[in-house]
Amino acid sequence: MERRFAHGRIVLAKGDITLARVDAVVNAANSSLLGGGGVDGAIHQAGGPGILEACRVLGGCETGDAKITTGGDLYARYVIHTVGPVFKDGTQGEAELLASCYRRSMAVAREHGVVSMAFPAISCGVFGYPADLAGCIAVNTVGDILEAEVGIEQVQFVLFNDTVYGAFEEALSGAGDCT
Ligand code: ADP
Repeated sequence: MERRFAHGRIVLAKGDITLARVDAVVNAANSSLLGGGGVDGAIHQAGGPGILEACRVLGGCETGDAKITTGGDLYARYVIHTVGPVFKDGTQGEAELLASCYRRSMAVAREHGVVSMAFPAISCGVFGYPADLAGCIAVNTVGDILEAEVGIEQVQFVLFNDTVYGAFEEALSGAGDCT
């Protein structure tokens, strides 16, 4: 599934983000940037030790922010590490922090000349964000940027399971209210 905006498009894909043929892959990291499970573990495993080496000197990352490293052995030239919020009850600023992950990741990507990038479903794993809300925030935030800014031309969401894929599909096809 795909949707066009003024300056680029969003593409939904199922599968493993480490295989994405894009300039930059986004990692749903934890604030230490020193490795974890889920998509983080998969990216470090597929990309090799060069990524962790680059992360060690970054001094961690705040929730809602993003930092860039080499893509190591991945096809992608860069990995952009962002730290999503842990979902508690939706009243702790989770939505704004999640939107910030997408905005900051795209801003850092743009600074590095990235034209195509891939996001996982940030916070939708162990951080517990409901997929329908997270999908709505993700596609609206990215869509707004692709509507307003020249630079990044293609954003893929590479989604690992059918439930999350379905939620993002619904969000991309509808005019979402993210609450
Ligand atoms: P978070 O801590 O931000 O919740 P997780 O890594 O636990 O991060 O999960 C984020 C999402 O990434 C989940 O939907 C999970 O199913 C998905 N995921 C796990 N491995 C991969 C992978 N190799 N490629 C793409 N998505 C993945």
